[in-house]
Amino acid sequence: MQKKEIAINVENLSKIYKNGVKAISGVSFSVNFGEIFGLLGPNGAGKSSTVRILSTLSNLSDGSAHIAGQNVTKSPTEVRLLTGYVAQSTGVDAWATGKENLLLQAQLERVPRKKINKRVDNLLEWVGLSSVSRKLVKTYSGGMKRRLEIAMGLVHEPKVLFLDEPSTGLDPESRRKLWNDLKYLQKQKKITVLLTTHYLEEADYLCDRIAIIDKGKIVAKGTPSDLKSKISSDIVTLEIDNQIDLASNILTNLHGVNSTNVEDDKIVLQVNNGKKILPSLVLELQKKSINIVSFSFNSPSLDDVYLKFTGHRFEKDN
Ligand code: ADP
Repeated sequence: MQKKEIAINVENLSKIYKNGVKAISGVSFSVNFGEIFGLLGPNGAGKSSTVRILSTLSNLSDGSAHIAGQNVTKSPTEVRLLTGYVAQSTGVDAWATGKENLLLQAQLERVPRKKINKRVDNLLEWVGLSSVSRKLVKTYSGGMKRRLEIAMGLVHEPKVLFLDEPSTGLDPESRRKLWNDLKYLQKQKKITVLLTTHYLEEADYLCDRIAIIDKGKIVAKGTPSDLKSKISSDIVTLEIDNQIDLASNILTNLHGVNSTNVEDDKIVLQVNNGKKILPSLVLELQKKSINIVSFSFNSPSLDDVYLKFTGHRFEKDN
C-alpha cells in the first residue's frame, strides 16, 4: 500500500518505446507535498518520458509510480484528477482570449458550472493576466502565454503540477518572472510541482530538490546545495602579506585541506568545503600573526556535480 502523504513516488520505472528505444531504466525518486522538484538533464535524457508516464499520457514498461498513493497504471482516472500537466507546446487557442481559453479548459475538466467563473478569475489574477484576460492570446508575449498555460493546468485544482520544460523559449527576464510566479504559487497554493529542465540555473534557483538524469538513469539526487557539497573541490585563494611559506605549511596540515599551492603572494588551496573551512583558516593564521589581505573562493556549480556523476560537462550537451 502506497502512502498518501507522498506526493509522487516512482520506483524502478522503465520505458521502452515500440521502436526499441530504452528512454528510461530503473528510475526511482519521491517528491513530498509542497515541494518544487526538478528533473534536470540534457535533451534526450528521458525527462519527458518520465513525466508523461506520471501524468498517465504514456504507459510504463516496468516499475511503478504513485501520485498521492494512487497507482498511475491501475487508477489513471484518480491520477488525472490529482494532477495537472503543462506540455512543452500546448493547445492554447491563439485566436481566443486568455479568459476564453481558461473557460473552455474548465469545461473540459468538468469544473462544476457554478464554480467556473470565480475559479477562472482567481487563476487569471494569480498568474497576473487579469488586465489582459479579454485580449486575444496571439497578442501575448511568450511569458504571458506560458503563464496562461500554467493556469490552464491548474483549472481543476490538482494537487500536483507537472511542467515539461516550462521556461524553454522564454527570454531571461520572462524566465525569471516565471520562476518567481512558481515560487509564489508554491507558497500560496501549497502546490507540488515536478518540472523538467535542461537549465542548470533554473534547477539551482527554483527547485527544493532535484534529480539529475542522464541517458535514462538518475545519477544523483538531493537539494542543489547538498549535491554541490558532494564535490570535494572548492578552491580557496588567500593573499598573504608575510611569511607565506609558514602559512602554506600550517594550512597543508589543516583538516579538510586537500592540497596547497603557493603562487606569488597567494596560496591556492583545494578544500573539502570552502565555506566551512574559512573561519578555521583565518584562526590558524592569526595565531602566528599572519594576515590575510584578501580571499576568494569558487563554489562548485551544478555543472561540476553533473561532471562528477556523468563524466562529462552539462553545458556541452545543450
Ligand atoms: P528529454 O525529455 O529528456 O529530452 P525524452 O523523454 O523526450 O527526453 O526522450 C528520451 C529518449 O526517448 C530519446 O532517445 C527520444 O528520442 C526517445 N523517445 C521519446 N519519445 C519517443 C517516442 N514516442 N517513440 C520513440 N522514441 C521516443
